[in-house]
Amino acid sequence: MRLILFGPPGAGKGTQANIIADKYKTAHISTGDMLRAAVSNGAELGVLAKSYMDKGELVPDDVIIGIINDRIKEEDAQNGFMLDGFPRTIAQANALDEMLSGASQSIDAVVSIEVRDEVIVERILERQKIEGRDDDKEDVVRNRLNVYRNQTEPLKSFYAEKSILNEIHGMGTVDEVFGRIDEVLSNL
Ligand code: AMP
Repeated sequence: MRLILFGPPGAGKGTQANIIADKYKTAHISTGDMLRAAVSNGAELGVLAKSYMDKGELVPDDVIIGIINDRIKEEDAQNGFMLDGFPRTIAQANALDEMLSGASQSIDAVVSIEVRDEVIVERILERQKIEGRDDDKEDVVRNRLNVYRNQTEPLKSFYAEKSILNEIHGMGTVDEVFGRIDEVLSNL
């Protein structure tokens, strides 16, 4: 199963990704987690990425595409994977298609978790108190949301045209949201 988990920041992608990875035994590939790891171990990539992440801007496409290109070739991704936080632009989505078609592969489903903006800001400010992420501050969150609506959300029509987009209502408990996702995945 090759899956894209899609949705605005704070939609609960990370939480749901962990549950999905557990149940479906699929590699969980989170570009945000990979970039944060690079930031915390002082890698060159981290220094570059941090300057964008702190402002809530997207890291340049060529950097992210390179990371994903290497990552999906790793052993644990050979039987499928779940992308969390990638693709975020049309250029990234096109690059992903090219990478996969080169290996005669394709994405089976895109699951988009839908949550309203007011709820997102509230949720992320709560998360900031617990995790202390630099990019969870209110002005940065609002910019991340703008970036999502302008650059990332258009990808929904890109995948709807391929008939693989599944919109999931993202409100309710973690279990309720997972139940809705599971219904889609178990029918693939
Ligand atoms: P996330 O944890 O997925 O919300 O990602 C945190 C930050 O990492 C984003 O606000 C971006 O600055 C950067 N980032 C993560 N994934 C991508 C991507 N696919 N393209 C560009 N920037 C990304």
